[in-house]
Amino acid sequence: MGQNQKLIKKGNMEPISKIPFHTDAPLKRFSMLSKKIIPDAHTHVAVHIVDANKNEMPEYTKIHKHNADEINLILSEDDKLTYEIQLDDKVHTVSSPSSVFIPKGTSHKAKAVSGKGTFVCIILSNNYTTTKG
Ligand SMILES: [Zn+2]
Repeated sequence: MGQNQKLIKKGNMEPISKIPFHTDAPLKRFSMLSKKIIPDAHTHVAVHIVDANKNEMPEYTKIHKHNADEINLILSEDDKLTYEIQLDDKVHTVSSPSSVFIPKGTSHKAKAVSGKGTFVCIILSNNYTTTKG
C-alpha cells in the first residue's frame, strides 16, 4: 500500500453506448483513466477489446471531433487487427501495430473491420468537449 496506492486503479467496464456519438457494439470497453478516476492525470484513456472475426461490427461511431488532441493505438498479438479510421473526409485502413494522431478539431470515426485485439483511445485532456464532425 502506501501513499501511491491511490495512483493505481482498476478499469471500469462501461457500455460503449454511454459515450456521446457512439452506439452499441459487441466489444468490451474499459474506462481506464478519467477525471472521475484520477483528476490530476488530465488525460482520458479508454480501451476496447475487440474480436471482429467473431462479431460482425455495426457502425458504432458517428463522426465527431474534440477540442483536444486524441491518439488511437491499434494493437494485437498476431498483428492482424484492422480498423477503418475516418479522418475528415477520407477513410484509412489501419492495421496493427499502428498509432493514429488526431489533432483537435479533426473530424473522425473508427470501426474494427477484422482481427482481434485492443484499441486504445487517449485524449490529452480530462475536460474536453465532443461535437458533431
Ligand atoms: Zn474521438
